[in-house]
Amino acid sequence: MRIETDIKLDFKDVLIRPKRSTLNSRSEVSVLRQYKFKYSPLVWEGVPVIAANMDHTGTFDVAKVMASHQLMTAMHKFVTLNDWVNYQKTSPETLPHCFVSIGTSQEDLTAAKEAFKVINSAFICLDVANGYTQHFVSFLRQLRDTFPDKVIMAGNVVTGEMAEELLISGADIVKIGIGPGSVCTTRYKTGVGYPQLSAIIECADAAHGLKGLVCADGGCTCPGDVAKAFAAGADFVMLGGMLAGHDECGGEVIEKGGKPFKAFYGMSSKQAMTTYYGSVADYRASEGRLVHVPYRGALENTVLDILGGLRSACTYVGAKQLKELTKRTTFVRVSQQLNEVYSHYQVGEEK
Ligand code: 5GP
Repeated sequence: MRIETDIKLDFKDVLIRPKRSTLNSRSEVSVLRQYKFKYSPLVWEGVPVIAANMDHTGTFDVAKVMASHQLMTAMHKFVTLNDWVNYQKTSPETLPHCFVSIGTSQEDLTAAKEAFKVINSAFICLDVANGYTQHFVSFLRQLRDTFPDKVIMAGNVVTGEMAEELLISGADIVKIGIGPGSVCTTRYKTGVGYPQLSAIIECADAAHGLKGLVCADGGCTCPGDVAKAFAAGADFVMLGGMLAGHDECGGEVIEKGGKPFKAFYGMSSKQAMTTYYGSVADYRASEGRLVHVPYRGALENTVLDILGGLRSACTYVGAKQLKELTKRTTFVRVSQQLNEVYSHYQVGEEK
């Protein structure tokens, strides 16, 4: 056993220090980014924020709203080929912003080959709770051989050496995060994890050295956290909980104590496993929870709120483009970041 004594940081442990700037207004800031990929020949331009491939947020209705602002959506794994075909017919222009999520068995690979004969997307999301296994790495190699031109995002990992391994094995984008998610119980169940801000910093550093990209996945609770993730070096940021509870999300509105909620659960929660597999297999623990999040109406408002926060963060450090945010960031370590004195008296949901 070894103990590493360097302190590792989460979003809540830092703030971004403001810097003298010539920018006058956040309307001068562009949050668009253009990326080339390590393997795929595609050049992509858009706002690099992705709705998580959970059955609540990875829906076609969410994708439409995200795409209307040039953001992306990773569709959840259980979307049927029929649904894809219908969506493609009705909203073909939004497809370049959708990831197809696939599993890691040989049947999944066969199904993916069939699916990509009809689905026009260039993006694949291959994610497992633990991206450290040899099986995962060899499946990724096979996937890259099968789809040389697709943009493959693979994960999840939290350390530089494994980010490098996934990039060498065929990933264009490595997904970062073990345990930070809003409905994730991995840390509670297993004691395994890594503070997300440090994971992003360390993996981005490793990945960029190999011309790879990273997607920070999980743990953002407010627009400021999204800004911190980009400031830490993330090329993409994936969001679940921050986009949950809207009209466009999966599930119905539930009334509780006269107030509206929506059910949101982890994709390896008991709820998800019984929905999609009938039961929780004996050998595995559920590592996700079911929550009822307050119903929040149209997703559009939340998306605009996140984009406004990002632009404003850039303005504070003088970054004219999102691309410059990380170069212009100095994080300061803090012991408190929000003044919550009136948080119990708040009218409405924001902090
Ligand atoms: P959030 O933005 O809600 O904090 O985090 C979303 C991320 O949590 C997802 O993209 C996914 O990586 C992760 N996640 C989703 N469901 C589960 C689950 O059941 N267990 C674990 N460990 N992580 C989950």
